[in-house]
Amino acid sequence: MKTLAEIFEHTLEDMYYAENAISKALPKVAKAATDAKLQKAAEDHLTETKDQIRKLELVFKSIGKKASGEKCDAIEGLIKETDGLIEETSGTALNAGLLAACQAVEHYEISRYGSLREWAKDLGHKDAHKLLSEILDQEKATNNKLTNLAVMSINKPGSTAKAA
Ligand code: FE
Ligand code: FE
Ligand code: FE
Repeated sequence: MKTLAEIFEHTLEDMYYAENAISKALPKVAKAATDAKLQKAAEDHLTETKDQIRKLELVFKSIGKKASGEKCDAIEGLIKETDGLIEETSGTALNAGLLAACQAVEHYEISRYGSLREWAKDLGHKDAHKLLSEILDQEKATNNKLTNLAVMSINKPGSTAKAA
């Protein structure tokens, strides 16, 4: 990769792969969580993630490219860590750990979309800049929601809201 346009496209493909992987992982998180609020947060973000996949397809379209994914090793690693946590942890620690794992994913996404939307601007891709900024805002809002959930309830022993 030699040009900004190339690294922009490569990173878009990386995130298209990552969002698809996240959409498969979030139902596992919702199922494993024993806290009703955390379950709801995972389900709500699954809906947003599906919307983000559609937005990324529009980004590809806006730059005249076909949507395609390129394996993202970072998200594979983060999901693997989450799977390990689900196997090895229970109770309050499971909910706190799952929430933290979700935040690690949000932070990865925030960093990638922060770069992508600036590169889109630098490359003169106005529509892509707008769409990527919308996704970035959703990821930041999700991260803030998770921080509040952790601090206000999940991290407190015996605070688990009973799951359905
Ligand atoms: Fe996302
Ligand atoms: Fe990646
Ligand atoms: Fe996200």
